[in-house]
Amino acid sequence: MSRGILLVISGFSGAGKGTVIGELLHGENKREDCCLSVSATSRTPRQGETEGVSYYFKTAEVFEQMIAEDKFLEYTKYVGNYYGTPREYVMEKLEAGINVILEIEVDGAMQVKSKFNEAVTIFITPPNAEELEKRLRGRQTESEEIIQKRLLKAAEEALSIPHYDYLIINDKVADCVSTISDLIEMEKRRVVNQSEFVAELQEDMKQLADREKK
Ligand code: 5GP
Repeated sequence: MSRGILLVISGFSGAGKGTVIGELLHGENKREDCCLSVSATSRTPRQGETEGVSYYFKTAEVFEQMIAEDKFLEYTKYVGNYYGTPREYVMEKLEAGINVILEIEVDGAMQVKSKFNEAVTIFITPPNAEELEKRLRGRQTESEEIIQKRLLKAAEEALSIPHYDYLIINDKVADCVSTISDLIEMEKRRVVNQSEFVAELQEDMKQLADREKK
């Protein structure tokens, strides 16, 4: 069995990442071979968010304790709050051959890429800046101050797009989901992601050749 693929998905706040990932995992054409890593954060829950599903909500003190204990694969501070990927879950799933999706921001994505060169980094964007602003304001879960902070942050994040492996425009959710699904299929076909199969095949071919020589 081959190791799972580590997929890192970033995008501006309001790009529709959550919807796309939700469809990929639970929608009509859901992928059973993928799971989502639930992050820890020190921000307060939004309405409708559930502990252990949306995030593991921690106080800043507890989060800092977890940093000290090296519990994170990566972590960062984003608009005043900590966010981090718990290491253990990700490593367990990858070892079990399950593809793991991290929905994280730019700084964390680059940390992951520097530790796992084979990770696939994807940036999702709305078709243009106007659409991004519309989606962000349409969400109506945040104050004007937070929305402004997120728009400023988005302009900063746009500068990091060239560091990603893939850029996907989220115009239609279904198209975006099927593009990511295709990408997973292609990644699975990389020789480095099929090393056990290759070793087995080489061994079988060797035996075949030995038999022919006799
Ligand atoms: P939100 O507060 O909107 O849920 O998330 C804010 C940003 O933090 C989003 O861009 C989201 O992708 C990112 N984020 C969520 N979890 C993590 C994480 O574990 N690590 C990092 N680096 N970013 C995260």
